[in-house]
Amino acid sequence: MIAENLKRVEEKIEQICLEIGRNRSEIKLIAVSKTQSKEVIEEVLSAGIKDLGENKAQELRDKAELISGDFNWHYIGHLQSNKIKYVIKSAEFIHSVDSIKLADEINKKAESINKVQKVLLEINTSKEASKFGLSGEKEIFDTAAFCNLAKNLDIVGLMTMAPYTNDMEIIRKCFVTLRSVKEKLNSSGFRVKELSMGMTNDYEIAIEEGATMLRIGTAIFGERNLI
Ligand SMILES: *Cc1c(COP(=O)(O)O)cnc(C)c1O
Repeated sequence: MIAENLKRVEEKIEQICLEIGRNRSEIKLIAVSKTQSKEVIEEVLSAGIKDLGENKAQELRDKAELISGDFNWHYIGHLQSNKIKYVIKSAEFIHSVDSIKLADEINKKAESINKVQKVLLEINTSKEASKFGLSGEKEIFDTAAFCNLAKNLDIVGLMTMAPYTNDMEIIRKCFVTLRSVKEKLNSSGFRVKELSMGMTNDYEIAIEEGATMLRIGTAIFGERNLI
């Protein structure tokens, strides 16, 4: 079941890349394993997944103790400063830096374990739909500049969530905004590479607009049980 779902998603990604002339190898497929059991996660790993995404700090800590192998954990959820300790050891990437205060705290925790933490800035590209993420040029540039100077942070990219809607144009606008923030940063001397955007509902559009990290749960694992 999971292997078949994954194959379907993979074929779709390859088909879109072919249509628009992108190279499949520049896109990471992150299987969002939140709420999934160890057994289910091991199944997706044996189907070839190399990247797993979690959105709850303690859940990531617990799973990282149970499951290991040749793959990377991505922390994709909102992060409170007092929970950095749960993710700092295992998260290869933290996608959700949304304030200088949080960046500062992650930097300190990373320093204390001698790690350079790869981070992405979460950008609020859909003002009304999302509570989280940086918005406004000054806030974004100040946070990027802080991360750039912080010794134990490596700012590798930007992340956004489009609103849950069937209106493709609203979704596309969010992704175009994220790409243009990246271009603005890079034209002022930053070197931001990754665009983490695209979920089950909208990953096709995200690939068209330049996504390099897709965060996909439902299309791979099926509907999550509501808690
Ligand atoms: C749950 C989640 C996803 C995946 O959502 P699906 O619709 O199941 O693909 C992606 N990104 C974040 C931040 C999430 O919390």
